[in-house]
Amino acid sequence: AMYQAKEAGRNTFRSHLLDTGDEALNDLTLRNGLRPALTRGEFSLHYQPIIALASGKLIGAEALLRWQHPTLGNVPPNRFIPVAELSGHIVAIGDWVLGKACQEAAGWAERGLGPLMVSVNLSPLQLRHGSLEASVAAALSNSGLDGRWLELEITESTLMGDTDALIDQLNRLKAMGIRLAVDDFGTGYSCLAYLRRLPVDRLKIDRAFMADIGAGADDASIVRAIIQMAVGLGLGTTAEGVEHPHQHEALKALGCDEVQGYLYAHPMPAEQFVQWASAHAGQPLAAI
Ligand code: C2E
Ligand code: MG
Ligand code: MG
Ligand code: MG
Repeated sequence: AMYQAKEAGRNTFRSHLLDTGDEALNDLTLRNGLRPALTRGEFSLHYQPIIALASGKLIGAEALLRWQHPTLGNVPPNRFIPVAELSGHIVAIGDWVLGKACQEAAGWAERGLGPLMVSVNLSPLQLRHGSLEASVAAALSNSGLDGRWLELEITESTLMGDTDALIDQLNRLKAMGIRLAVDDFGTGYSCLAYLRRLPVDRLKIDRAFMADIGAGADDASIVRAIIQMAVGLGLGTTAEGVEHPHQHEALKALGCDEVQGYLYAHPMPAEQFVQWASAHAGQPLAAI
């Protein structure tokens, strides 16, 4: 009984360590944990299916980083990625993500599941660090994945940083055949004239706007405006965070071309994604 009480107490401490208490101490705990995490194999990627709205078919997946900390358990990316960015660890972690995602996506093609795109989130620090192009080139050549099956997601706020140097860098990535997407679109303050200059292929409409699509017919004005603007600029659109059938229907009517969200599938471990993809290969999703 004493052992149990101790264990329970320790578990309480563990969860408090992440939720409340001294933020600086928590960050330090995470930061110290990040250093050995790569070599100890504590990271993995989960994959969330992305569906073509017109056909209902699986066309790819977003790679989402997961960290299994030895004592804290599963630490959510929104908690540890900002810490990894402050400490600079995100550059090495980001390289690992690129390599792993390309390797796993090349494996999908080998199992006859392809062709499927893989989307990888980039930190602003990876763009500012001079090694990104070399890392992307290495990830592609080590895996044998063709660049056209890789999409890089860059958040809107990152793209608003500096100008000509960033545009040159994006153009060099595009020259490798890679697709570029603006992640969390609508949450920043993009200037339309600037967006036009960026060599991006698609906008990922932030999931915050999905809530606007109510059951009513005319609640979708922001999403409608974003899709119309994207069409005008020759860009594709992916809606993130689609949870309800009425959102699916509204997005279809508005001409959104790709969708992603719990309505279709949650992010899942790599092996489970392979099973899911096998079950859905080439078939429109049932029930939508
Ligand atoms: P994100 O790039 O916008 O990724 C989408 C997030 O929305 C994921 O959260 C996903 O699990 C979640 N999501 C998907 N469908 C739904 C839905 O229908 N409803 C709701 N409520 N949520 C949904 P996750 O995996 O916790 O990742 C959070 C963020 O962490 C990501 O947002 C991304 O910015 C960042 N992140 C994840 N992996 C990486 C990575 O490898 N590198 C970098 N730099 N950032 C990453
Ligand atoms: Mg993303
Ligand atoms: Mg993101
Ligand atoms: Mg997003």
